[in-house]
Amino acid sequence: MALLVQKFGGTSVGTVDKIEKIADKLFESQKAGNGVVAVVSAMSGETNRLIELARQISHEPNAREYDVLVSTGEQVTIALLSMALHARGVDARSYTGAQVKILTDDSHTKARIMEIDDTAMQSDLEHGRVIVVAGFQGVDKNGNITTLGRGGSDTTAVALAAALKADECQIFTDVDGVYTTDPRVEPNARRLDRITFEEMLEMASLGSKVLQIRAVEFAGKYNVPLRVLSSFEEGPGTLISYEQRTEGKIMEQPVISGIAFNRDEAKLTILGVPDTPGVAYQILGPISDANIEVDMIIQNVGADSTTDFTFTVHRNDYDKALKILQEIATAVNAREVVGDSAIVKVSIVGVGMRSHAGIASKMFKALSDEAINIRMISTSEIKISVVIDEKYLELGVRTLHTAFGLAETASD
Ligand code: ASP
Ligand code: MG
Repeated sequence: MALLVQKFGGTSVGTVDKIEKIADKLFESQKAGNGVVAVVSAMSGETNRLIELARQISHEPNAREYDVLVSTGEQVTIALLSMALHARGVDARSYTGAQVKILTDDSHTKARIMEIDDTAMQSDLEHGRVIVVAGFQGVDKNGNITTLGRGGSDTTAVALAAALKADECQIFTDVDGVYTTDPRVEPNARRLDRITFEEMLEMASLGSKVLQIRAVEFAGKYNVPLRVLSSFEEGPGTLISYEQRTEGKIMEQPVISGIAFNRDEAKLTILGVPDTPGVAYQILGPISDANIEVDMIIQNVGADSTTDFTFTVHRNDYDKALKILQEIATAVNAREVVGDSAIVKVSIVGVGMRSHAGIASKMFKALSDEAINIRMISTSEIKISVVIDEKYLELGVRTLHTAFGLAETASD
């Protein structure tokens, strides 16, 4: 018997009708001989509605009460789904996070899971019950309700799968898997049969919104095989797991698994900064003190005892960062500050990069063939990112998708 944790997001349980369909699915899953634990989100739009209610009363609601409020959305779904299962003759039992005892720290609105008590769930499974758990919530050691941050139900599902040593954690959503890139930008994008945790993490942090980053990290840490599938269509979805190093198969593995992109960046440059120790800190210290997150950082080779320094920030922070940088420029006697918020970051991701040379030059050639100018470059072991002008986003993504043969059917 396989033990499956099956998670359904807000759109998958958005109406009573859809909840009935999920109940059918869980029933089938159990009939097929599996142990079944369902994790559900609030019905779509519900969490936003609750947050809006709080905003109408206070701009800074008390964090404890905020969690009491926003955790209620999931409580509605677990009860309705359990009722729908009962109507199908399935013995099901719902649990809030506190009822399971998903113990978290006390950081309201962004709590971290510390421990899960699996006693009640194990006994339910032994009795052949389907367990329905509210995602996104837990309880701290003093009994206060906590929530895990937006999209946190993915993390609940992975954590339960780890605690129960489930065979697979399946995330059902409105897409049928992880794609080589966003099909809205490249219609030839292809669903991947599998991808590694590392690649998925890069894809998620580079802008792919299929899974919450924390959930992928968690799954990698506890080696929980994770599968993304469609709630509405049949299909194998995409399996996220560790690299398969079967002899002879490595050659067939694609070098690049996907193209990620991020439209939310802006870049800032400070020119003619005195090239002295401590200057990077003098520039980035005040930026980080202002709670602005910096992504790529480039410092040029110094010439004439000065240097240039470029970095990117989230586009929402651009104006604020520009103002701070102008103040810094005056303080350190720099020549000039320039910025550009009409840029995007495009990245190629693949563990195959480790064992293949020439990936970067292939990427740069493909972009140059389309006369796309590269403004910044950064690399890690399994990704290469470039900053290009916003107007070339679509062309850049499609060009790279073709150059690395991603549209072709994979051999696996
Ligand atoms: N309902 C929560 C949210 O909308 C948690 C989740 O959906 O994963 O963020
Ligand atoms: Mg969600």
